[in-house]
Amino acid sequence: MQSDIEIAHQAVLQPIAAIAARLGVSEDELDLYGKYKAKLNDSLFRRLADKTDGKLILVTAINPTPAGEGKTTTTVGLGDALRRLGKQAVIALREPSLGPVFGMKGGAAGGGYAQVMPMEDINLHFTGDMHAITAANNLLCAILDNHLQQGNALGIDPRRILFKRVLDMNDRVLRQTVVGLGGKGNGIPREDGFVITVASEVMAILCLARNIADLKKRLGTILVAYSYAGEPVYCRQLGVAGAMAALLKDALNPNLVQTLEGTAAIIHGGPFANIAHGCNSVRATSLALKLGDYCVTEAGFGSDLGAEKFMDIKCRAAGLHPAAVVLVATIRALKYNGGVKRDALGNEDVGALRRGADNLRAHIANMRRFGVPVVVAINRFGTDTEAELSAVEGICREEHASFALSEVFTKGGEGGLDLAKKVIEAADTPSSFLPLYDLGLSLKEKIDTLAQKLYGAGEVQYTPAAEKALAEIAALGGNKLPICVAKTQYSLSDDASALGRPKGFTLHVRDARLSAGAGFVVIYTGNILQMPGLPKKPAAELIDIDENGTITGLF
Ligand code: ADP
Ligand code: MG
Repeated sequence: MQSDIEIAHQAVLQPIAAIAARLGVSEDELDLYGKYKAKLNDSLFRRLADKTDGKLILVTAINPTPAGEGKTTTTVGLGDALRRLGKQAVIALREPSLGPVFGMKGGAAGGGYAQVMPMEDINLHFTGDMHAITAANNLLCAILDNHLQQGNALGIDPRRILFKRVLDMNDRVLRQTVVGLGGKGNGIPREDGFVITVASEVMAILCLARNIADLKKRLGTILVAYSYAGEPVYCRQLGVAGAMAALLKDALNPNLVQTLEGTAAIIHGGPFANIAHGCNSVRATSLALKLGDYCVTEAGFGSDLGAEKFMDIKCRAAGLHPAAVVLVATIRALKYNGGVKRDALGNEDVGALRRGADNLRAHIANMRRFGVPVVVAINRFGTDTEAELSAVEGICREEHASFALSEVFTKGGEGGLDLAKKVIEAADTPSSFLPLYDLGLSLKEKIDTLAQKLYGAGEVQYTPAAEKALAEIAALGGNKLPICVAKTQYSLSDDASALGRPKGFTLHVRDARLSAGAGFVVIYTGNILQMPGLPKKPAAELIDIDENGTITGLF
């Protein structure tokens, strides 16, 4: 089979205005970015404000291998399949980050015959949203350091600045830096550091904001530092929320593109799910629900990360009610969870698969806790054997879980028809969505609930730094907020090597941070980092462009 980018190069795209027209969107409601990309503007939001929503389908997964298990691919293929069944389906995805594109995992525009187009643009600069977020974030940093230089009227303690600079790149040497070196004219020296853009609070704010007014208010509410007196200092005190919002004006509008089969896909916002809240924007999801009978959306990594945050943070904040959850599982990831090494995942091993299937069982049970029907999508790889496939189907039956074999990677929407039928059936089942924890609980009670009910932890341990941070956050009124756990994506626990279904382990909470503008409290567990590094052989070394402008090596 051809590579993702080879398949993409052969695609004949429709003008994006034609895709929009099929959704009833007029040219005035579109801001074109060339022929195949457009932003959906405020006039569309206004016109659709009172329209009834379609059904919301969330695609999530079991704990993945480092290569990813095909959630984006399945989301795209499921959207195409629903359309083949005569449904108006609209896909809602996150924007890829350059970190994974040039690192280990590659792009995030789907794969095989289930991709969104133009995949090079989407994976690289797209419509510039990521750059705008980076610029808005770093504007606040520049203003803050200038404030110190110009006399520090707010009495900001340079040792207690919480807000960091960002870059959309995997660049480990920037994790801890010192800025302001070189004398009086170069600012006040202090320790600083960079976070990857997709883990920033500005990204989370863009994804949760309803409109410009809400965006500005949230930006103003960012807690940037503490003063020498121990008082909180917010972004609005530095007078820069308006300028940041101005930089984000276009980035706030969702991007419309198409799949290989011409299904509409809205791609907007891209927080990682391990170090951020992991869902595309509320504006994009809301629009997709207005424009389609079905909105198929993806949340990042396994259901312990993206899906949990989708339910407890995004759906709660935006008043959304998911109608069904698709849980993507691969034979490869099940074997990986059963202890098979990465380079041996292509070999048949039903025993390892059965051991690893405990991970699938945990994710099914976890998603059912939210009161929403679950369909398991078995994303078929070429190396899967009949014995392995029937073993997984047997496990789904034991769990009384609806399931379908998905072949969208090799066949496009045609390969997802069975999955689409099961999803329609599930979404028609009456259900009552309920978040996992009540916002009235204390922060520690929320963390305990999540750790014990969803992760399977025995107890939660806090470092002194975490205890102090949680107390400070509670004193600032942060107790009422939902939590956003930063945790490894490879395990239900905070230890990447504890595969399968670890039980009774200790969850280590290292630190906590109030994201007052986003409206959640970030809980750092294990040794998770907010600025990833590159692997020994970065994907960037495979990427090239020829004199005709044709890009190769993206996957
Ligand atoms: P996720 O969204 O879960 O991270 P992706 O959909 O991005 O996963 O897929 C990860 C990688 O695996 C992509 O490069 C994609 O092309 C590839 N992939 C997905 N499904 C299949 C499949 N069934 N067979 C082969 N490769 C696949
Ligand atoms: Mg994905």
